[in-house]
Amino acid sequence: MQNPFDVLVVGAGYAGSVCARCLAEGGKRVRVLERRPHVAGNAYDRLDEAGVLIHQYGPHIFHTNDQKVYDWLSRFTQWRDYQHRVVADIPDEQGGRLRYPVPFNLTSLETAFGAEEGKRLGEKLMAAYGAEKKVTILELRQNSDPEISALADYVYEHVFVHYTMKQWGQKPEDIDPNTTARVPVFLSRDDRYFQDTYQGMPLKGYTPMFEKMLCHPNLTVELGVDALERLKVTEGGVTVDGENFPGAVIYTGQADELFTFRYGPLPYRTLDFRFETLPQDDFQGYGTVNYTVDQDYTRITEFKHLTGQTLPGKTTIVKEYSKAYGGILEEVPYYAIINPENNALYAKYKALADAIPNLHLLGRLAEYKYYNMDAIAGRALALAEELNK
Ligand SMILES: Cc1cc2nc3c(=O)[nH]c(=O)nc-3n(C[C@H](O)[C@H](O)[C@H](O)COP(=O)(O)OP(=O)(O)OC[C@H]3O[C@@H](n4cnc5c(N)ncnc54)[C@H](O)[C@@H]3O)c2cc1C
Repeated sequence: MQNPFDVLVVGAGYAGSVCARCLAEGGKRVRVLERRPHVAGNAYDRLDEAGVLIHQYGPHIFHTNDQKVYDWLSRFTQWRDYQHRVVADIPDEQGGRLRYPVPFNLTSLETAFGAEEGKRLGEKLMAAYGAEKKVTILELRQNSDPEISALADYVYEHVFVHYTMKQWGQKPEDIDPNTTARVPVFLSRDDRYFQDTYQGMPLKGYTPMFEKMLCHPNLTVELGVDALERLKVTEGGVTVDGENFPGAVIYTGQADELFTFRYGPLPYRTLDFRFETLPQDDFQGYGTVNYTVDQDYTRITEFKHLTGQTLPGKTTIVKEYSKAYGGILEEVPYYAIINPENNALYAKYKALADAIPNLHLLGRLAEYKYYNMDAIAGRALALAEELNK
């Protein structure tokens, strides 16, 4: 019996779902296999036991300058206008705590150094670099004025280095100097985390947006199915359910897993999310607070600020703890660890995939890279449009 579909998509996250919808609209019969019991991949959201809308795999804020992606996704959702603001929470010298916007900006300067001194430093910086500019700490360090280079050291120490060590499990000497160099100081009062043209949250949540996207007569989704039990990759091509499959396979799972870890596992960082529901309206006044100097967790997110949900007397927060991915069942590989050695290992898996013309690796796992949601949606649209030709 011939497979009753033209295209097989593995994974129902952004990569898989966007591609699947676009191919279905192009007239292809598409089958999506998803290992989890739900769609939306890591953007999955749901009501918790207290009735709070939470993001199960960490806070997701949509932002983009790509009008095509924004318009395309807007077919499946309305948006809640939400501009993300993040503060760093650090211990002060009097034994209390300080909070200021990150990226570090003119308001942060005044909070850190006092209103008058902060203002004076801000004016000095604007005179040197211009107002509304983003200046990297590398540029500040290279300035011959000792006050400006000292400020670079302050931002490095209080906003960047400890946070990065927690996130990536690194010692300061292991941190890539190129990353350090890119840390910005924003010479502005704009305390939004992103400056993109389009920012917001799907009005009813990400999961309903995906459900709508995947609802099309040419498209079927099977949940709770590990595609690797049905899909086999051999040198001659691909088989699905034991039969040769000549159609396109869009694979959005891990590249190493697809080839049974033949060259060894690709390293990842994972996250432990600890959710707590508290008997109060508001816990922290912000969507996200970063702990950039102390605490074992990197940040706390309070979902009601993101989603705009009104639910008196209850709020749910999540603390994020970062650690090495051990490849065990309960762990999710969240962040690829990009370095020359790991890139070289990935290239070996990619070469195996490239030898099979109808196999397409797409997404953060299959391509072993970090994508924001808009970027992977854009990539998925481009691939599907190509295959629809
Ligand atoms: C903590 C965190 C916060 C983030 N916040 C933001 C944010 O604020 N804004 C933003 O733009 N981006 C954010 N991102 C990035 C965003 O999550 C990604 O862009 C997006 O998830 C990528 O989609 P994807 O389809 O490539 O991967 P995924 O969402 O991981 O989807 C892949 C799917 O494939 C399935 N799968 C894998 N293997 C198999 C198999 N063998 N069989 C069947 N199914 C399989 C998986 O179960 C999964 O559902 C964040 C990422 C993380 C980790």
